[in-house]
Amino acid sequence: MSSPNPVFIPGPTNIPERLRRAVDVPTHDHRASDFPAFLAALLEGLKAVFQTTRGEIVVFPSSGTGGWEAAVTNTLSPGDRVLAARHGMFSHRWIDLCRRHRLDVQVIEAPWGESVPLDAYAEALAADREHRIKAVLVTHNETATGVRSDVAAVRRTLDDAGHPALLFVDGVSSIGAMDFRMDDWGVDLAVTGSQKGLMLPTGLAIVGVSTKARAAMETAGCPRCYFDMRDMLGTTAGGGYPYTPPVPLLYGLREAVAMLEEEGLDAVFARHRRIAEGVRRAVAAWGLPLCARRPEIGSDSVTAIMVPEGHDADALVRHAYDRYGVSFGGGLGDVAGTLFRIGHLGQMTDVMALSGLATAEMAMADLGYPVTLGSGVAAAQAWYRETAAEAATAPAPAATAAA
Ligand SMILES: *Cc1c(COP(=O)(O)O)cnc(C)c1O
Repeated sequence: MSSPNPVFIPGPTNIPERLRRAVDVPTHDHRASDFPAFLAALLEGLKAVFQTTRGEIVVFPSSGTGGWEAAVTNTLSPGDRVLAARHGMFSHRWIDLCRRHRLDVQVIEAPWGESVPLDAYAEALAADREHRIKAVLVTHNETATGVRSDVAAVRRTLDDAGHPALLFVDGVSSIGAMDFRMDDWGVDLAVTGSQKGLMLPTGLAIVGVSTKARAAMETAGCPRCYFDMRDMLGTTAGGGYPYTPPVPLLYGLREAVAMLEEEGLDAVFARHRRIAEGVRRAVAAWGLPLCARRPEIGSDSVTAIMVPEGHDADALVRHAYDRYGVSFGGGLGDVAGTLFRIGHLGQMTDVMALSGLATAEMAMADLGYPVTLGSGVAAAQAWYRETAAEAATAPAPAATAAA
């Protein structure tokens, strides 16, 4: 059932009216003479979102998971070793995908609620004198636990070890919402999907590719066909697609990029940070712990909240939807039942966030949680009031450029 209420799941996120209109277009022939210029401008716009000038962008008809599969199969061969941390459901699923492609995954287990363990990565890279590790995986924002990892620090770890492995980043719930710098952080493959920070319906996997990753495609032995990036890069360079692209979604993507550009990426990140802080203050006022074990690793796109002993978080999520028509995220995998998640990425305002917090309070009160109605809302209101004037007067991107 589709409701007029906003959703508070960390994807798919709320689709702005402007993007709903943008995808509602008559058929545009993808082999027509004006398609190449449209596609070229779109790919350029996406580079800005990934903060890359040196990399290339590939857009597959797929959800984000297809982008993972493309990243892995295009640059690696069966038996290749990759280094990954498991600290949530998404990092777990990426490891599983690698294993099914017969990669040799060196898994570092970390508590769910922790970020990528830099010391363990450094140790593994230093010990790998023969450079058998071909790729290092980082889930920038672990959507299952609401934890952000430090990609720049992983880059430094690779550099300090003088290790040539590729750096892969799952940025599905961070790109377009939290600062992500493909070039500055030396990321070789970065993956996102259309339905999170980009605020669109599901259906596109967007992958940033470095020159080093592109070179690895020449020797990679994993089978791929539909997701072969050489076919894709070869045809998009000429303005075409190796198969029929979902043109309406590409129109939407162009508009989503324009929205991010107009707001300004820094302002987009600041808005996410500010809204997230309000949610975290609300959770603190409820007296509930975050899944994120340290405040500095709290995600700006989703907040995962531990429910009190004796309560079932899945029942809370179900109740909020059935009674109030509002979707929150449940716990996934190891943390199922123990936490619920408030997604606050994509199109989100103070007012929307407050409505989600108010609904969460009603649902918790209905189910006998020891939470005072209004306590979290009041804490978030105080933060939003305190910071609203500053946020509203932040220089617009055009003004900054003119200055
Ligand atoms: C949503 C998500 C995915 C999966 O993307 P799909 O579009 O559902 O295939 C992968 N990683 C992270 C971090 C996510 O948030």
